[in-house]
Amino acid sequence: MDAGTSLPSRIPSVDEILKTPQAQEAAVRFGRTRAVHAIRHATAVVRREIGAGAAVVPDAEAIAVDALLWLETDARPNARAVFNLTGTILHTNLGRAILAEAAIDAATVAMREALALEFDITQGKRGERDTLVRGLLCELTGAEDATIVNNNAAAVLLALNTLAKGKEAIVSRGELIEIGGAFRMPEIMARAGTRLVEVGTTNRTHEKDYAAAINPKTGLILKVHTSNYRIEGFTKSVSGKAISALARASHVPLLNDLGSGTLVDLARYGLTHEQTVAEALAEGADLVTFSGDKLLGGPQAGFIVGSRELIARLNRNPMKRALRIDKIRLAAIEATLRLYLDPDRLAERLPTLRMMARPLADIEAAADRLKPAVAAAAGPDFAADVIACASQIGSGALPTEVIPSAGIALRAVNTRGKGRALMTLAAALRALDQPVIGRVENDTLILDLRCLEDEAAFVRNLVALRPEEQR
Ligand SMILES: *Cc1c(COP(=O)(O)O)cnc(C)c1O
Repeated sequence: MDAGTSLPSRIPSVDEILKTPQAQEAAVRFGRTRAVHAIRHATAVVRREIGAGAAVVPDAEAIAVDALLWLETDARPNARAVFNLTGTILHTNLGRAILAEAAIDAATVAMREALALEFDITQGKRGERDTLVRGLLCELTGAEDATIVNNNAAAVLLALNTLAKGKEAIVSRGELIEIGGAFRMPEIMARAGTRLVEVGTTNRTHEKDYAAAINPKTGLILKVHTSNYRIEGFTKSVSGKAISALARASHVPLLNDLGSGTLVDLARYGLTHEQTVAEALAEGADLVTFSGDKLLGGPQAGFIVGSRELIARLNRNPMKRALRIDKIRLAAIEATLRLYLDPDRLAERLPTLRMMARPLADIEAAADRLKPAVAAAAGPDFAADVIACASQIGSGALPTEVIPSAGIALRAVNTRGKGRALMTLAAALRALDQPVIGRVENDTLILDLRCLEDEAAFVRNLVALRPEEQR
């Protein structure tokens, strides 16, 4: 070509690029509109590079290849599956509970078909969506009645707003929790129109503190599970039984926000016993609130169970409509709750419990099996070792409980800038088709294998790892 022609004018036209086999492939896979968009994007990049001093103009095929790569990267869904090897089973940032197959099937049906959502099939007339799960919730918790909303934060908000709007809610100073930054008990109370009355001190609250705070303006007493911390040492809190006796004598309802809220005795599966929803009700709480996607192992939801009269008041609150749950999750919740009817097989069927109860020897064997593949993928700059580590439940369930686990530890060797090398490796693992998320501790990248169930998929996915190219 004539050396006098300016470089930008030598950039192939969109029509010319579209004729290349790569662009044709792009048009078939992603549609012509999208292919043209990607080609314009790729030529704009070339123009910028020339502006920045590039001396050569790529040909039509090279630009088409770039456009195709851009389309492939762009087509990866934002809601991507990841391998959660953080060691936190219910990781809020990774979507908490993984659903049971039965729940996935039920959700799929609810998405694909019309559903008897608010329709009484026997009577052939209008029904209520809560009835899909009310009976199961009552059976599993011993409650008189139950209602369901978007999440547990919404459950607490609805209960406070219904029972204590314009009134006072009494809470121990030891229980004024903040969860994940956005859910702070005092702020939720303010939004619910409730005046917070703090009693006791951070470490010690006595029965007489509650008793002294009760007056005619009291709307309710709130007991909150200290989900993400423990106060240790010189401490005193009032038992649920004692608070409920006091609440009953004063004709004030007691709301127990259990947070995670388990429906089974976890000791049965080799874990530490956590007060169940049924136990919280049995010790006298009028209402108990808990999450769907924490220990329960279902989709995001908030449950309120307890007194029939109070649940009826909650259901009459117009706010309930704004907090309601959709049919897809409702179907998944029903299927999840049904699994609890057969506790013998629950740990097999419910992924959350299966991962929590997974035998250590099983995880150690997986670490031994996977170490060679991980070491090969990481390359010679990293040492890979099978290590003992500790998993946690996460999402405010059993906050101080750690479960012995096993994993693979990756450490940079033979390089200067070991910290940087490790970060590069962690980034390369996150850039895989199915990102692998571990945790970094003391210059070591730990891949806790407790939550890894599909080892073959993990190994297949690892093959694309090329940390040395990212440096
Ligand atoms: C997690 C938690 C909440 C919030 O529940 P979400 O389902 O995340 O809305 C409220 N209270 C307690 C005690 C919790 O542990």
